[in-house]
Amino acid sequence: MLVRCGACGHRFPVEYRGSACPCGGLLDVRHCPERTAAALRTVFDRRAGAASLARGRVGGEVAASGVWRFRELLLPGDGATLAHPEGDTPIYRREAVSRFAGVADLGLKHEGQNPTGSFKDRGMTVAVSHAARHGATAVACASTGNTSASMAAYAARAGLPALVLVPAGRVAAGKLAQAVAYGARTLMVRGDFDDCLRLCREAADELGVTLLNSINPWRIEGQKTIVLEMLQQRGWQPPDWIAVPAGNLGNTSAFGKALVEARDLGLIDRLPRIAAIQAAGASPFERSYRTDFRKRYSVRAETVATAIRIGDPASHDRAVRSIRDTRGVVARVTDIEILAAKAIIDAAGIGCEPASAASVAGVRKLVRAGTIRPGESVVAVLTGHVLKDAEIVMKYHSTKGRGRHSPTEIPAELRAVARFVRAS
Ligand SMILES: *Cc1c(COP(=O)(O)O)cnc(C)c1O
Ligand SMILES: [Zn+2]
Repeated sequence: MLVRCGACGHRFPVEYRGSACPCGGLLDVRHCPERTAAALRTVFDRRAGAASLARGRVGGEVAASGVWRFRELLLPGDGATLAHPEGDTPIYRREAVSRFAGVADLGLKHEGQNPTGSFKDRGMTVAVSHAARHGATAVACASTGNTSASMAAYAARAGLPALVLVPAGRVAAGKLAQAVAYGARTLMVRGDFDDCLRLCREAADELGVTLLNSINPWRIEGQKTIVLEMLQQRGWQPPDWIAVPAGNLGNTSAFGKALVEARDLGLIDRLPRIAAIQAAGASPFERSYRTDFRKRYSVRAETVATAIRIGDPASHDRAVRSIRDTRGVVARVTDIEILAAKAIIDAAGIGCEPASAASVAGVRKLVRAGTIRPGESVVAVLTGHVLKDAEIVMKYHSTKGRGRHSPTEIPAELRAVARFVRAS
């Protein structure tokens, strides 16, 4: 295993806790697993089978983790492994959502069912474990909400002080509450996410805290397991497409890396195509895609999907590689399309936060454009839990329209209840 700059190729020791090369390039982890694909698959499948037994057993967190099951491809070696445990998320299939999206074979991999309610836990368990193994004294992140919630929980698990920078007034209440509850020192910056990340990178360089945003290469390693676990759940038969909401592009990067590594190892024999979906008001990557990635853009981001309200995605270069390697596509969807998809997912009893619904809205759009064919198999990733952003749910249902059902106040009388029973 080695760590390498993706831009200039400079090599770093595995203990290195920085996120970027002096040249400005981001770092990548390269693995050289000693086992064959068949042997790895056997180990991964055996651990998956043992996971439910380990759940709830004292000290069983690592064995029960849907992340550490794949440790040979993430962070091998000894030392602290700080699992909650995370991963092992379900793939839902719901007729109503399939019909809405326009593909019969649609799986919804629900990453909102991680310990802190988003996929960020998968990256955080690996990055915090790496930091703790190699002498970190404090950790920090910039966040639109979920990264800070997750980092705060894992820092608490590791006994490390945590510093969180969020854009003031622009973080969903549930997420902010988590960071505060788990004990992070939370700073509300008068600026947007991109300002927070810039400040955080400067603080990491100047003040010696370990940066845990997704530019940290170990975050990417952990997030690869969304794809690895999904492939395992499908008996190592890849779908035709994987749709993912795209903000700072950590996941888009991680998915491409996971797929190429899985194919090169022989775990799978063909690559699914990645569909990265951005919100129209925060779509610099989609714009770049339309120039065949000849240009890179930075925009002032605005969307109801706060988790992907990012104007200058940090992992741009890695994500370009993912799209190219998988013959992927990048699409954008409006806030209205995102909320319509969310309402369908919510009403199916599954629920997700707004940014998550961008994946399903994107599939619908790509089916209508003829890019995804109705007969192809698709897995759409739901990135966060419905309770993360309760405000938007109540706001959506307080307006008039089909499928809206805001709560109604009534007098404490059976007569009033009866009227609603008859009407429904
Ligand atoms: C972080 C996050 C995203 C964006 O993922 P990136 O890796 O930054 O592209 C999407 N949805 C939710 C719920 C998130 O928390
Ligand atoms: Zn470099």
